[in-house]
Amino acid sequence: MIVRPKKSLGQHFLTDKNIAKDIVALLKADNLTKVLEIGPGMGVLTNFLLENSAYETSVIEIDSESVDYLNDHFPQLKDRIIFGDFLRIDLAEKISAQPFALIGNLPYNISSQIFFKVLENKELIPEIVCMLQKEVAKRIASGPGSKVYGILSVFLQAWYTIEYLIDVPPHVFDPPPKVQSAVIRLTANGRTELGCNEKLFFKVVKQSFNQRRKMLRNSIKGFSPRIDELDPVLLTRRPEQLSVAEFIDLTNSIEQLMAAPI
Ligand code: SAM
Repeated sequence: MIVRPKKSLGQHFLTDKNIAKDIVALLKADNLTKVLEIGPGMGVLTNFLLENSAYETSVIEIDSESVDYLNDHFPQLKDRIIFGDFLRIDLAEKISAQPFALIGNLPYNISSQIFFKVLENKELIPEIVCMLQKEVAKRIASGPGSKVYGILSVFLQAWYTIEYLIDVPPHVFDPPPKVQSAVIRLTANGRTELGCNEKLFFKVVKQSFNQRRKMLRNSIKGFSPRIDELDPVLLTRRPEQLSVAEFIDLTNSIEQLMAAPI
């Protein structure tokens, strides 16, 4: 029995075992004893994860047919096969209260949501190795000045070092996706605090990129009627030109303006 691929769950099964082995080998899991795989499907990555005794592997899969398959083929995983939705699970309670590494050939339709969940749990997840749509991988890994640098690049690069590692063509999947794929690795950069109000940082970055072609003056004016008191050169820049450090500075400046009496 094999699992029938379901489009709604982003199921494109990797058929090339060498690539699966290469992806698993990218996981360093330094000082980590647990690994969680998102969306194991028929276990092409799981198989290699289980060969490594330096860490204990758990998997979370939303598809009951895949879960049945995994129970049949990987009896050694036993109660570490979690039937559930990665986006909804309480990771600290159900997986581990200690930091663990995350790996997966992601369901591409929800990859951004997966990264927002990672950000919410960043203290628990110091390393991620994942395959995703090449375009999204490029965006996440690109720096300021690039046309594809965006909200997720800034949020993730605030906390992680991102390496773009392998290109993967469509024909090694069943069914082949319509897009190219790529593997990236995110490693915690050691930062424990941003150096600004995190909630405001989130809002400033989002607001700035809402109008990515526009000068900051236009996109962030809603934060304070005194926005023109900020550095005039800064106000003429576009969000795609700002580094994480500059967004942090901008957040601090905006917070000061918001606190100042009108
Ligand atoms: N790892 C397998 C492979 O490489 O062949 C399957 C990868 S496939 C691209 C994505 C997998 O994620 C599917 O097995 C799908 O059922 C599962 N999935 C989709 N949404 C999920 C979710 N919210 N939580 C957990 N697993 C999910």
